[in-house]
Amino acid sequence: MQIERFTKVQVDALLPGRKPETSKNDYGRVWAFCGSSGYTGAPYFAAQGAVRMGSGIVTLAVPADIYPILAVKLNEPVIYPYTEDSWQDALHRAERSAACLIGSGLGHFAAFRELTLTALTSLPCPIVLDADGINALGGHIDKLCSTAYPVVLTPHAGEFSRLTGIDHPTAEDAAAFAMRYGCVLLLKGHRTVVAAPDGTVTCNTTGNPGMAKGGSGDVLAGMILSLIGQGLRPADAARVGAWLHGRCGDVCANRLSEYGMTPTDMLSVLPEVLHEYN
Ligand code: AMP
Ligand code: MG
Repeated sequence: MQIERFTKVQVDALLPGRKPETSKNDYGRVWAFCGSSGYTGAPYFAAQGAVRMGSGIVTLAVPADIYPILAVKLNEPVIYPYTEDSWQDALHRAERSAACLIGSGLGHFAAFRELTLTALTSLPCPIVLDADGINALGGHIDKLCSTAYPVVLTPHAGEFSRLTGIDHPTAEDAAAFAMRYGCVLLLKGHRTVVAAPDGTVTCNTTGNPGMAKGGSGDVLAGMILSLIGQGLRPADAARVGAWLHGRCGDVCANRLSEYGMTPTDMLSVLPEVLHEYN
């Protein structure tokens, strides 16, 4: 199997840029369903990943019991509370978005499975599934085959193993999964792999073990969401997102050490990293 190394030249070519005569509506209205009781960091990281990546409008939908916390933590996103009785309304509102992220920190919301599976069949836009959005597919993996819009999955090895039963997954496993289920599979690790349904597989070469900290993957999920909302093809969004996310990690490691750097620091340096590109 051929695995291409993704490069900075490709990032330069794929980043969409911003034209003078535009408004926030031209940079993607995106929704994220993330977070649950006890998991108030994941929705913060995902939403800020999307904001810092350049989205026009980010709406963060969260279970009502953590709404006050996120409303204080975040300024740029719209925060939309939902309950076990009203998550369908929230999903309905998300139908007009350019892309939707589901999963980061969602698992302690009682209806997280129903919410995720309903979104897959009802949302008329690309969907990024992360963390508990991937876990929600357990036993329903074939639902991926019948979605009308592209789906990107962003598991780490443990999440991929839980979903598929494959221990120690390889790039070949990622490629086979992407082709079989017709989705983009971003398998996170030291050298993250992105496999597309057309059989193309790329390997990311940015990033370092300082990124192995809770919250890191949530930032990535928000960045990919944002890039899809700004018009990148889902596989390209996953590749560009992984590259830039790793660059943020490398800048932070250089300044702050792999020990001390945090996902919050990675969000802070993303604007500087973006200065390196066209
Ligand atoms: P998550 O496990 O969802 O928080 O995601 C962790 C993020 O950190 C992913 O983007 C990984 O690729 C990255 N990461 C974790 N460990 C390493 C490592 N040893 N080297 C490089 N990147 C890593
Ligand atoms: Mg994660």
